[in-house]
Amino acid sequence: MSFYFTLNTGSSSVKFTLYKALEEPELFISGMVERLGLSARLRVRSQSENVVQELGKVDHDNAVSVILEKLEPYLQGGSVVGVGHRIVHGGNAFYRPTKLTPAVVEELEKLIPLAPLHQPFSIATIRAAMQVFPDVVQVGCFDTAFHAGHTFCNDAFAIPRRFYEEGVRRYGFHGLSFDFISSEMQRLFPEVANGRLVIAHLGNGASMCAVREGRSINATTSFSAVDGLPMGTRCGRLDPGVMLYLMQEKQLSAKEIENVIYRESGLLGLSEESADMRELEQSGSTFANEAIEYYCYQIRREVGAMAASLEGVDALVFSAGVGENSARVRRQVCEALGFFGIAIDEEKNNANAVEIGAGSVRVFIIPTNEEQVIARAVAGMVSLSQ
Ligand code: ADP
Repeated sequence: MSFYFTLNTGSSSVKFTLYKALEEPELFISGMVERLGLSARLRVRSQSENVVQELGKVDHDNAVSVILEKLEPYLQGGSVVGVGHRIVHGGNAFYRPTKLTPAVVEELEKLIPLAPLHQPFSIATIRAAMQVFPDVVQVGCFDTAFHAGHTFCNDAFAIPRRFYEEGVRRYGFHGLSFDFISSEMQRLFPEVANGRLVIAHLGNGASMCAVREGRSINATTSFSAVDGLPMGTRCGRLDPGVMLYLMQEKQLSAKEIENVIYRESGLLGLSEESADMRELEQSGSTFANEAIEYYCYQIRREVGAMAASLEGVDALVFSAGVGENSARVRRQVCEALGFFGIAIDEEKNNANAVEIGAGSVRVFIIPTNEEQVIARAVAGMVSLSQ
């Protein structure tokens, strides 16, 4: 049996999956190593079991070899024939899945200033995987790639041109998720998939994307994945004047501001309680309710912005942890959008049905699966190199 191996590296974790190497890859095992750099822990989920194991000290450099060692018994003599990496930033150069060579990795290193919180960890994992699998095809899949080709208005900031030329642009993120959801729409609802879609990926990170004829034309995240919607702990759209105030009046350093906007804001900052939507829904406190209302209001606002860039909307799609599971958020988002032709069927919404719309715009819940997009890219690259 041959397998594809996908790796998704965060600042303190590496998530992995093993897929059976079929034309449409089939999930075999998934898991993660978390708490990297501290006393790390391994979680493995297969069809028959859930395993949790304490690992001791593991960091990004040796996580891949530790994972592989632990997965060896599951492979039953089979081998890994392709490795796919989720990479946050592809800059302007990488707009499709790309075979990773030492020269490509060098180019990716040059993008570190554009994504200093994420890119270094991805690169550490790529280097480690190249050592562990020296003869296996490695493929980079970029969160920015699905958004490549946006028009100038959706790509630029109105700051001096020289910054645009050096790469200060609205790249957009969560592309693997939007790519998967678009492909699912194509598979399940081809009659609308080629129309004008507004997709809301609402997980711990949250963003929206306007898709026309299967291609992204606008996104709420931009230069960084902190722009756009409020998220679990990220602030979303923020007047740059607030940043100046924090620097000049509050004397906060860049590191302190980073902490405020990435880790202390969003649902957590507004509620002073939790970044987790489920907990906020259960809380019922005034701050928790205000945080949820603010979150839903910002999504509604962006539905308007995305619809304007699409010149109309044929379908609204909810996805990721909150989008797939929170009937309340979907209701609060949709209830004031009747003027747009957006309405939901209460019963179907409460049942998390696939299609929940009750107006002229169709409304869907489509579970996302970023790993599947990576595994498909690996399958494509492996078949090319055979
Ligand atoms: P990540 O971006 O880390 O992959 P997820 O897509 O898993 O995150 O989304 C996590 C969010 O989804 C959390 O805020 C969590 O509370 C929320 N969520 C998951 N299940 C539910 C539920 N049944 N009701 C409301 N929110 C939920």
